[in-house]
Amino acid sequence: SGSPTVSGRDVHLRLDGLSKRYGDSVAVASLDLAVPKGELVALLGPSGCGKTTTLRMVAGLIKPTDGRIVVGGHDITVMPPYRRDMGLVFQSYALFPHMSVAKNVAFGLEMRSVPKAEIEQRVKQALAMVRLEALAERKPRELSGGQQQRVALARALVIRPSILLLDEPLSNLDAKLRDEMRNEIRDIQQNLGITAVFVTHDQVEALSMCDKVVVMRGGKLEQVGTPVDVYEHPTTPFVASFVGRTNRLEGTAQGDGRVSIGSSEIRVPGRPGGRVEIMVRPHRMRLVETGSGQDAAEGVNRVAGRLSRVTFIGDLLQYHVDVNGAEIVVEVASDHGRGFRTVGTPVAVLWRIEDTMVFGRCA
Ligand code: ATP
Repeated sequence: SGSPTVSGRDVHLRLDGLSKRYGDSVAVASLDLAVPKGELVALLGPSGCGKTTTLRMVAGLIKPTDGRIVVGGHDITVMPPYRRDMGLVFQSYALFPHMSVAKNVAFGLEMRSVPKAEIEQRVKQALAMVRLEALAERKPRELSGGQQQRVALARALVIRPSILLLDEPLSNLDAKLRDEMRNEIRDIQQNLGITAVFVTHDQVEALSMCDKVVVMRGGKLEQVGTPVDVYEHPTTPFVASFVGRTNRLEGTAQGDGRVSIGSSEIRVPGRPGGRVEIMVRPHRMRLVETGSGQDAAEGVNRVAGRLSRVTFIGDLLQYHVDVNGAEIVVEVASDHGRGFRTVGTPVAVLWRIEDTMVFGRCA
């Protein structure tokens, strides 16, 4: 058909140089993005990076300054929101308080003049999808936060939108409910095969739910990739430290794969030169006591330091190690709370060369 594809799937939503300026300030700067049909894509980034502005431009609630929004090959950049065939779910559920759950869900269909019998059937279906059939006659105030968010989801899906847009839909829920809803939203999205864009500042949410993660910073796209890509192969120090926890060390690269960090020397993949940033995930590191005989093996980096703090967080032990005044955090699985070492102990931190992420110093 000649329609463009990404990873073998037809592109359903495309953003071409999408931009939004407010006076001199740039909220979104020339964003290019292709979302394949049926994929769930996360817009991930810190507060103010332009996630919500991007989503609202896609929804038609904010008018772009520049660029195009293309859905299924049709340019919808100037189409009014109600004609865009998109389902929206916001952080605040925005339910009508005086209407029952069923009426809330039916609203969009009534607006579209769908016949009564069909409305009834589709509302039933949508409520079944979010497991709320039993609560159809309740008012929103008689529901928990998680249940209200499910109503909002049913209301968005009942119109059978071509694209589902979710703006921080889980941030008002407690941690346990958030985990549940994550899986639920993902299951529904996959069962329907619906294309969806999900705004979040929570990296766990982005990694665990989405097919692709779009990391944004200062209105710009920093990296796009699968969750494994952005976590294991971040292309910038920003992505490395925003997606997942990481230790950060500065050093001078010799150009032959060696890097000096203070009085220590380590090896890194590749042959960078000059000032570099070294990043290593805490769970990729091990801790040994100095003089324990467990010295660095082939392919393993070793830096010496002193244990400055031990934190027990249930399933993990976190060791904070002072290495030449820099702090390194090492995480190990907690074995029934055993394995504590004494603060002040001279230790060495070990990690594999291949687990070392290295970045040239960026401005
Ligand atoms: P958050 O997670 O805090 O919602 P965000 O990544 O969604 O952040 P946006 O809400 O898209 O960020 O805002 C992007 C930038 O645009 C911010 O710097 C914000 O201050 C600015 N901005 C948003 N709306 C307006 C507006 N109406 N007028 C001027 N500046 C705005």
